Amino acid sequence: MSVQRQILLNPGPVTLSERVRGALTRGDWCHREPEFAALMRQINARLVEVHPALRSGFSAATLAASGTGAVEAMLAAFAPEDGGTLVVANGVYGERMLRMLAAHGRPHQALQHGWTDAVDLGAIEAALARNPRLTHLAIVHLETTTGRWNDLEAVGALCRARGVTLLLDAVSSFGALPVESAAWNLGALAATANKCLHGAPGLSFVVASDALWQRKPPAAGSVYLDARAYHAGQHGDGFSPFTLPVQVAFALSEALAEHAEQGGTAARFALYQARAERTRAALMAAGVAPLLDPAAYSPVLASWRLPKGRSYRELHDALKALGYVIYAGQGSLGADIFRIAHMGDIRPAELDALCAALTRLCGSA
Ligand SMILES: *Cc1c(COP(=O)(O)O)cnc(C)c1O
Repeated sequence: MSVQRQILLNPGPVTLSERVRGALTRGDWCHREPEFAALMRQINARLVEVHPALRSGFSAATLAASGTGAVEAMLAAFAPEDGGTLVVANGVYGERMLRMLAAHGRPHQALQHGWTDAVDLGAIEAALARNPRLTHLAIVHLETTTGRWNDLEAVGALCRARGVTLLLDAVSSFGALPVESAAWNLGALAATANKCLHGAPGLSFVVASDALWQRKPPAAGSVYLDARAYHAGQHGDGFSPFTLPVQVAFALSEALAEHAEQGGTAARFALYQARAERTRAALMAAGVAPLLDPAAYSPVLASWRLPKGRSYRELHDALKALGYVIYAGQGSLGADIFRIAHMGDIRPAELDALCAALTRLCGSA
């Protein structure tokens, strides 16, 4: 049995390439046999190859979890129990990190922004200067709530200047947007198989510096989301503490090979940029307004105001009937916006047809 091809324009999971989808039916392996240990070693080695800045001094641990699981594992492993973490939040995912730190009882300070706001560098600088106990800073690279590409060049430079360790939610950016390590004083990042890497959902990962992996584990961590236990196992005998989705690992391995063969992160950025220019031109020509100044978007995804007189449901259903799945706004933005991501296996003819449909459905009817 198969389902009709859908072009997923939601921010993950993505439409898989034939090659990656085919890997899901490769066969059955026990997760405690040496061949699977070797596969996980290879996946972790390839993950740090995705961004040149991670190639030395960093290593990965791969978990059976969605992206949220990797973010929570990262914070549980590395947010200090003494000292504190400054959380810069300008959307759902930044706020989710606040909830995680609260749930794990880790001292933190929130720097809350409005969801459409750019990060306030002056406020970050002032918060760090006021409270020297803030040794870590947590932020989202690409805030998927709106599509805002947070200014990590500036935030990272602040972290570096102050010796503050950066903990980055790179779930929607890993594999497509540039990541720096030394320039940002990056300690760790969390990301997932099924967004810009074009793997299947079910695996996510934490990449951290050698110094952080070696640091003393927290007194109160997590059992299932213990990133250090995955790291020790996968870099030791190769085995993970708990069962990993073996077939999803086959798919991730293929997706990483495809990512590298297609030219790596810079090429993926360029691919999304070409797609983003097309959808933007179609939407602007139809009179659809961006939620943010388009300069705030990355090529990965953008959010748009619903055309006058059209509900999200109507637009969604009309596009879905043609095989395209767009994404609603979250929270208070739900009634106002829709989001279009440019990840996954989208064929040129499918992009053409999407743009024609957007023009037709969004134009003043
Ligand atoms: C998708 C996403 C997550 C994680 O979402 P899951 O549904 O748990 O995979 C976390 N942060 C950001 C920025 C995201 O885009």
